Amino acid sequence: MRAVDIIQKKRDGGILSESEINFFIKGYTNGDIPDYQASAWAMTVLLKGMTPEETTHLTLAMAESGDKLDLSDVVDIAVDKHSSGGVGDKTSIAVVPLVRACGLPVGKMSGRGLGFSGGTLDKLESIPGFRTNLTKDEFIHQLGTLGMVLSGQSMDLAPADGKLYALRDVTGTVQSIPLIASSIMSKKIAAGAQAIVLDVKTGNGAFMETVDEARKLANLMVSIGELSGRDVIAVLSDMNQPLGIEVGNALEMKEAIETLRGNGPEDFLEHCLEIASLMVVLGRKAETKSEGRKMVVDALETGKGFEYLLKLVAAQDGDLSFINKPEKLPQAPIKSIIQAQKSGHVSQVYARKVGETAVVLGAGRTKKGEAIDQAVGISVMVKVGQSIERGQPLFVVHARTDDAMAAAKASLESAVKIVDEQVDPLPLFYGLVE
Ligand code: URA
Repeated sequence: MRAVDIIQKKRDGGILSESEINFFIKGYTNGDIPDYQASAWAMTVLLKGMTPEETTHLTLAMAESGDKLDLSDVVDIAVDKHSSGGVGDKTSIAVVPLVRACGLPVGKMSGRGLGFSGGTLDKLESIPGFRTNLTKDEFIHQLGTLGMVLSGQSMDLAPADGKLYALRDVTGTVQSIPLIASSIMSKKIAAGAQAIVLDVKTGNGAFMETVDEARKLANLMVSIGELSGRDVIAVLSDMNQPLGIEVGNALEMKEAIETLRGNGPEDFLEHCLEIASLMVVLGRKAETKSEGRKMVVDALETGKGFEYLLKLVAAQDGDLSFINKPEKLPQAPIKSIIQAQKSGHVSQVYARKVGETAVVLGAGRTKKGEAIDQAVGISVMVKVGQSIERGQPLFVVHARTDDAMAAAKASLESAVKIVDEQVDPLPLFYGLVE
């Protein structure tokens, strides 16, 4: 078999067999197939699509590309969650400790930023010392002792996805339903969680722009989950405007900390409560979502969720003083406010533009493996539906240099639309796929 024939077959609209997919993924993982062929292949998949069968083969090939965790020796049931990617999405950092505080073990493998969307690992690494590269043994040990892990993919779990994910980030090949579904589900299968809540984002700040596309992605992932014997539920959530206020690594870390201390923005808090309640139900700690929600709210209000964040950070060698005093987290040297040019009602806060601007500032990558700037980002001061006065802040931009500030300001110019007539707020959710 030759990689070039597989690329050409997909380019010409063919359906790849299980053995062709296995050959390609194995070859890419062990370095026999170079990045340039994998990029071409990813682009043909993006343009030509894959059948559900091909996607399932791809998922399993990636899940089998490295070690697979068996968590049954250390916990009765481990739940996991995964977001399909969005702007301002720091949900895992708040939700993992909250769910753990409800008595449910959580073993979570997270990712880095991808295109305009941020990544949990990049956010966590704004805490000095915090280790996101746990080994397999460390992952299992911490899950068994602390009942909670939030780590990256460096430990030989689904390494094919790790490589492909970084490649897709910089080759314009993120927005593909089969590539996203297989990327997410291969990690989940390899990480051994028995119950998974998928947060499938939809809107201009998500990879799936329409609710229909998001539902397709959700259906595909739920059926891959079923095939691999996992309990999976997907929630379709809005990503037409950034989630919460902060966009940028340290800024989002700070917002997640504040949320666990009871000072989170309303939309982000509500989002966390929904995801955490579903996890508690799927992990069989509660019969119904409302019962689950009560448990999660209790974990938040008693401060137990925050305590578990401290435990998580301590277990992974992070400096706790940055959690207790989040103002110590990296801060950009230049801050500037963008004001509303007129009074009216906010009809759009263009999430994708905000995410792209964060990348322009240095919060995300434009080349594989590029270093990112933890401190920079954007505070988004308005929500769709809000009425606003001329001169009110729309954004606070946190930049490293004057040039970056000027570029960010130009980029954000058209991100907010203000109209004369009243506008309804955006919904937070569009339904569940079970
Ligand atoms: N999250 C992932 O883990 N993979 C993708 O491809 C997109 C979002």
